Amino acid sequence: MSVRLAKKTGFCFGVKRAVRMAEEALSEKKKIHSLGSIIHNKQVVESLSRRGLKVIKDINELKKGVLVISSHGLSPKIRASIVKRGIDIIDTTCPFVLNAQKIAKRLAGEGYTVVIVGDSAHPEVRALVDFAAGRVFVVKDKREAGSLKLDGNDRVSIIAQTTQSKENFANVVKEISAKDPKELKVFDTICEDAESRQAQAKKLSRQVDLMLVVGGRNSANTKRLLDVCKKRSGAAYLIETEDEIEDSWLKKIRSVGITSGASTPDWIVKKVADRVRTKIKKEASHKPNS
Ligand code: SF4
Repeated sequence: MSVRLAKKTGFCFGVKRAVRMAEEALSEKKKIHSLGSIIHNKQVVESLSRRGLKVIKDINELKKGVLVISSHGLSPKIRASIVKRGIDIIDTTCPFVLNAQKIAKRLAGEGYTVVIVGDSAHPEVRALVDFAAGRVFVVKDKREAGSLKLDGNDRVSIIAQTTQSKENFANVVKEISAKDPKELKVFDTICEDAESRQAQAKKLSRQVDLMLVVGGRNSANTKRLLDVCKKRSGAAYLIETEDEIEDSWLKKIRSVGITSGASTPDWIVKKVADRVRTKIKKEASHKPNS
């Protein structure tokens, strides 16, 4: 049985940068806080928390200290209220997310209705909505896009949450374009990392019997990878750690593919690959010689 890793696994550029900035602040003994998880990976957040990071649920819990803005970005309204209260900020917003924020703000300023393709509950999208303050809609797929109430006088623009799939984005664009708005501007703000990870996962999942997608269950890009793999592979599972691999998954298969979300560190991916190999060896040693 073979075990194959996708070319791109481990942290993406934006997450690597965010974790490095948080670690630097912790090593300088700064009292840092994050609003929700700094990245969508429980194991990494726990490790940073042991070193002093405090995760808060509500911004009003923070009276003093430093707020680390996650790679997903922060609403300009919340940012302004924090600055007003004299709280320092370490901004780790990913440059790809910053780009989407700039575009959303500019389009809203130019009077466009802004349609964001993404998950309305995700912090990146919530911040984008505030950047596009005005007439803004969030749709997750073409079905939701189809039920949008637009009229022929609407000047519409479409952007994407950075971790969306190209396919979903294209379907939404097609759906909205069919509504024949007065004007339509489309900005593909999907980040290169998410795009290439999905493309690699798609390719690999066609070549193996089982795909393991390693990442946080609260991670948008990890869930997106699982969707991609489920469409193409015989079986695909999302796991956060190697302990979740079930022996039954590895029975009667010849190949396993492994990919990971952008907020999964290399060391977790390695542990998963090592555990799969160990299980395969154990299974083989129990088989009678033919
Ligand atoms: S997935 Fe893309 S947009 Fe998100 S943090 Fe990583 S590089 Fe940035």
